[in-house]
Amino acid sequence: MKLIIIASGSKSNAAVIENNGAAVLVDCGVTLKTLKSGLAKAGLSLESLCGVFVTHSHSDHIKGLPVIRRAVSAPFYSGTDVMLCQRFDGQICTGEFCVQAFECSHDVPCVGYKISCAGKSICIATDTGTVTQPMRSAFYGCENIMLESNHDIDMLKGGFYSASLKSRIMSDRGHLSNSDCAGFITELAGFGLRRAVLAHLSENNNTPLLARASAEQSLARFAPQYSVSVYPASPGLILEL
Ligand SMILES: [Zn+2]
Ligand SMILES: [Zn+2]
Repeated sequence: MKLIIIASGSKSNAAVIENNGAAVLVDCGVTLKTLKSGLAKAGLSLESLCGVFVTHSHSDHIKGLPVIRRAVSAPFYSGTDVMLCQRFDGQICTGEFCVQAFECSHDVPCVGYKISCAGKSICIATDTGTVTQPMRSAFYGCENIMLESNHDIDMLKGGFYSASLKSRIMSDRGHLSNSDCAGFITELAGFGLRRAVLAHLSENNNTPLLARASAEQSLARFAPQYSVSVYPASPGLILEL
């Protein structure tokens, strides 16, 4: 099983989980052209997709959805109400993949997904102001995670955003900071976590170096006996799970 990052950040999001040439897409925050070229780099095409799963209705996750919906014949699902997607609760299986939705904490209804295939799984939560109880239940014991590491708190506080936007981002219904993300990764290290992909990094209030250092320093300090690899979710990243 592979994770393929097509885009990740405050502006656009799309990730693919592949197994034996079949794949599911999580989020449609890219153009059809970007999706096709991202799939092609991993040896895949639109026909490889056996399901599309959307997390929530913010434009960085759905701006390509209407066009992608017309171009892809696979079913579109969401664990919450999202246009053009069939809503499901609990778990749904498509092709070889089983996908479980769990609730995140965001300023619109938002879910994350645990995607399982061929005895492996990955938990994905890209937009959440806090680590929710349903997230905890899904993430514990999972070998692979893709978790929001949105901002460095000092960069956000000292940055140019308005006071109201800063407080929205920092709230329990906003976005997860580097230190919140690092704390949860460290908590999971003792429960089988092997790979942590840092997702949805802010272009203005974070850098891949800072996000990675935050997670790695926390692991080195509080969970040195466990081996967890940390990867910022840069476009084009292909990770064997
Ligand atoms: Zn969002
Ligand atoms: Zn987002």
